[in-house]
Amino acid sequence: MKILAIGRNYTEHIAELNNERPDEPVIFTKPDNALLIKNKPFYYPDYTKDIHHEVEIVIKICEAGKCIDKRFAHKYYNEVGLGIDFTARDLQAKAKSKGLPWALAKGFDHSAPVSDFVPKTNYEDLQNLNFSLKVNGEERQKGNTSHMLYPIDEIVSYISQFITLKKGDIIFTGTPKGVGPIQIGDRLEGFIEDKKFMDFEVK
Ligand code: MG
Repeated sequence: MKILAIGRNYTEHIAELNNERPDEPVIFTKPDNALLIKNKPFYYPDYTKDIHHEVEIVIKICEAGKCIDKRFAHKYYNEVGLGIDFTARDLQAKAKSKGLPWALAKGFDHSAPVSDFVPKTNYEDLQNLNFSLKVNGEERQKGNTSHMLYPIDEIVSYISQFITLKKGDIIFTGTPKGVGPIQIGDRLEGFIEDKKFMDFEVK
């Protein structure tokens, strides 16, 4: 499986990092060893001092597809979950300042904690989902998928023009505003609507 992600997909998050609004989707990948599942603790690595949480809706691909038309994109994913796109903001800032890739800032081990997935049919409209992240019981991020610049079907279609999607691949769909640093000892809880999808500690 592979992990794909879109950056800069919510306007208010673009503003908080002083980034430019993209004129086409900003896509990046994380290696499979970025996955962290079953609410296992995240161990803070020593090569960064500034890991940020980015809570995101994640979809899972159910059928292989290449050059998928936007109109049919919905047939290629059938499950939805929640994930955290952990980002070593210090490494990313250094790379960005030199125009270099973000690979290590985004793809380090366990930089992609992901919840269990549920059928997308549990929800009436995936483009109108509330989701949020609490850190130590306090709400830090809150978003609604209706605010995506590129909706899920467009992301799936766009990526598939370049990278063939395969069953089991997952796609992070972007983070709303409120990203910020995590510390050792933090407890992170993620929600879609009122249902808790994630609950894990930083060690
Ligand atoms: Mg992100």
